[in-house]
Amino acid sequence: MAKLSIEDLAGDIKGKKVLMRVDFNVPLDTKRVITSDKRISASLPSIKYVLKKGGRLILMSHLGRPKGKKAPEFSLDVVAVKLSELLGKPVQFAGDCIGDEVKKMADSLKDGEVMLLENLRFHSEEEANDPEFSKKLASLGDIYINDAFGTAHRAHASTEGVCKYIKKCAAGFLMEKELKFLGELLANPKKPFLAILGGAKVSDKIMVIENLLNLVDGIIIGGGMAYTFLQAKGREIGDSLCEKDKIDTAKDIMKKAMDKNVSIYLPIDHIVAKTPPKGVDFMTALQTAEYKSVLRDSIDAGWEGVDIGLNTIDKFKNIIMKAKTIFWNGPMGVFEVEQFSKGTMEIGKALAASGAVTVVGGGDSASALKKLKLTDKMTHVSTGGGASMEFMEGIELPGVAALTNK
Ligand code: AMP
Repeated sequence: MAKLSIEDLAGDIKGKKVLMRVDFNVPLDTKRVITSDKRISASLPSIKYVLKKGGRLILMSHLGRPKGKKAPEFSLDVVAVKLSELLGKPVQFAGDCIGDEVKKMADSLKDGEVMLLENLRFHSEEEANDPEFSKKLASLGDIYINDAFGTAHRAHASTEGVCKYIKKCAAGFLMEKELKFLGELLANPKKPFLAILGGAKVSDKIMVIENLLNLVDGIIIGGGMAYTFLQAKGREIGDSLCEKDKIDTAKDIMKKAMDKNVSIYLPIDHIVAKTPPKGVDFMTALQTAEYKSVLRDSIDAGWEGVDIGLNTIDKFKNIIMKAKTIFWNGPMGVFEVEQFSKGTMEIGKALAASGAVTVVGGGDSASALKKLKLTDKMTHVSTGGGASMEFMEGIELPGVAALTNK
């Protein structure tokens, strides 16, 4: 069902208090300096639109995981300063997100003025989707806009509950853009449609794979999750990551794929590292671990697969070049360690060169592309890792479902 968009409200905004949920969950260093303002700038189109139309804008967001308690290190105060810089106008900052003082501040905003509420997650009621808390948030605005795609998969007070108490609830520009590109993948993908999945765990991706089997022509599986599939096929995987309780699931997925005529592509060779001694931190150990290339799909005991091999890169690149639509989520190896990042980086480069519609599901794949400076070469890089994966599972996100139907 199509949802009301910010532009549908164009005539309603002037002189109204517009309560907007944004995702200002920015990365901060130890001195609380914002190390990337990407999440703030991503919502600037919606923010500027409301201000230009003469709305009185009340922004709300979470930051980090303060677990329901006021914690100065998670204050959004630094975001208010940054936003003011980006907008070139003052941003009032409220010391809380609910209460009489906050209400007073919101009520005294003038047309074209903007304020930012303090971290929603200083109240445990936010994540609990508490109705009273939702009502208090709703009492601040006449109109609600959700531009926080990254939290739309969570039914929280500011994303879901609040919509029960405001008549007109619309999607912001960023939210709309996400729904458009991801929605087209589910509804109308150009064929061949290829999915590329990586990362550590099969268990996190089962639901996505199940849904993708109905949509795609092929699925490339790399990263740690590939080893559970290789094990299911009877290959030796040495000490590689393997979810033993998911081997039957992997078998089942491969059987279903065959029945639906969907090709599953697995690595045919590997970069392997000597298994770190027990008790040593995996990432630290891998920095200096002995490693080698293994030009076959089986791995000896004492070694574990940490990246796809050179022949696999070639094989995957060929498949990518034939696709017209590609969805990518998850690294092909332990890409945080330079010597094991090649597989992930080469996949990123291949996507950029493919000429296909390329949609990337946020998270690690998005960071790899950023490192490669190839983000702009993708059709769309999602701002929500978790949300985009749940979307690809075919589930309607609670933060989207709650918006007003057109
Ligand atoms: P996920 O959150 O499931 O997308 O997994 C991302 C993590 O998977 C990254 O931190 C990678 O280091 C890790 N990863 C990718 N390939 C492997 C592998 N072969 N062995 C262990 N971890 C891996």
